[in-house]
Amino acid sequence: MNVTTRTINYGDEIIAFEVNFLERKTLDISVHPNQQVIVKAPIDALVEEIDQRVKKHARWILKQQQYFSQFEPRTPPRKYISGETHLYLGRQYRLKVEINSQPSVKLRGCYIYVQTPQPHCTETTQQLLENWYLERAQAKFNERLDFCFVNFKRFGQERPNLQIRHLSKRWGSLTANGTIILNRDLIRASSRGIDYVITHELCHLKHPDHSCAFYDLLISIMPDWEKRKLTLEQMLV
Ligand SMILES: [Zn+2]
Repeated sequence: MNVTTRTINYGDEIIAFEVNFLERKTLDISVHPNQQVIVKAPIDALVEEIDQRVKKHARWILKQQQYFSQFEPRTPPRKYISGETHLYLGRQYRLKVEINSQPSVKLRGCYIYVQTPQPHCTETTQQLLENWYLERAQAKFNERLDFCFVNFKRFGQERPNLQIRHLSKRWGSLTANGTIILNRDLIRASSRGIDYVITHELCHLKHPDHSCAFYDLLISIMPDWEKRKLTLEQMLV
C-alpha cells in the first residue's frame, strides 16, 4: 500500500493527514479518535486534488478533532501551592510560597518565589502570580514586538500598539485599526514562540487574509514558523 503524509493550511491551523492510495474509485476522509486524519484515495488521484478536498472539508475536520480532544488528558488545574511547576518564557519553574508582610513575586534560579502575608490563601497566591505574569507580559511582549517589527519597517507602516487580553481560543489577532492583541498566556511560551505569534500578526498588516502571499511573506521572514507553532501548541495545552 502506498502511504504519504501531507499538510494543508487553513486559517491559522495546519492540518496534517495521511493519504492511503488504494484500489478504489472515490475519496474518503475520516478523523480518528486520536485526532489523526486519514484519507483513502484512488491510486491515480493527484495530490493537488486531494489537498483541495481536504481543504474543502477543513472546517469539519477541525470540528471532529476538537470533539475528540475533549477526551484527552489535560494538564491538571493549578493549585498555587509550593512545589507545583509553572511555565515562564518556555521554562518550568517551581513555586515557593513564603510568608512575608510585604507581598512580592520574584524569579530566582529555577524557583518562582511568592511572598505573601497569607501563605495558606491560594487565591491570594494566584492573584499575585497572575499580576506578576501580566507585568512581565507587558514588558516582554513590547520588547519582542520591537524586535520583530524591524522586519516590517520597509512597508512604511507604524509600529502597532499592543494589548494583552485573556483569549480562550487564539494566541493573537490584529484589529482593523492595527492594534495587536496577544493572549496573556503567551508569557508562558518561549521567546521563539512569542516571536512567531507576533510575526504572524505583523504579516497581516500587509495581507489581512491567509492567502498564499501572506504565507510567502511569513516564510521569507520566518522560515521555521511551522516548527515554532508546533512547539508552542505542544507546550501550552
Ligand atoms: Zn492570521
